[in-house]
Amino acid sequence: MKVTCEFCREQLKFRKFRFKDGYACKKCYAILTNQFKTTIRNRSKTELYSIYASNKNQSYDPFKEFNVTKKIGNYILIDEDKQRFCVPNNINVVKSSEKPELYDINHCHSFSIETKPKSNLFELEKQMKEKSSKIINEIAVIFEFENQLRKIIILNNSVRISSFAFKKTFDFAKKIKKELDDLKNLTCK
Ligand SMILES: [Zn+2]
Repeated sequence: MKVTCEFCREQLKFRKFRFKDGYACKKCYAILTNQFKTTIRNRSKTELYSIYASNKNQSYDPFKEFNVTKKIGNYILIDEDKQRFCVPNNINVVKSSEKPELYDINHCHSFSIETKPKSNLFELEKQMKEKSSKIINEIAVIFEFENQLRKIIILNNSVRISSFAFKKTFDFAKKIKKELDDLKNLTCK
């Protein structure tokens, strides 16, 4: 017999949560119990339908449960316990008003640093030492998320490689890449 979740109609296998007259999947169970704070076992379908409807709107704010355990400049916030990070899209950095973005590290990979004009990192380090007057217009940390490229902008104006502004933002980019790589590796162990 096929068992489906009463609330999202997903077919259920091993993980299912029973209530008086039916079953819920884990995702809906989390909504019904306000993130596992209550139980549903003795409740009926009708009761749970109204609980689901009222909880759904509230419990779907992922930022509510975000605890900052690490912060890198104004660029990213990390919740190491829940293995997520937030890109606040600070207006001073991105120069346009964009909503903060929240990412689960398990769905992100291959973090790298990219500049405009494109330049190899090794070369940049070298040019920095040589106090090159070459101009860089953008530094960003790039990563793949659900088969799409996402970008965390670190520098969004033109600076000389020899400048302090370049050094500072380039250091931030390296730090962000390292922290995200570390967070990713942590979850793989
Ligand atoms: Zn469900």
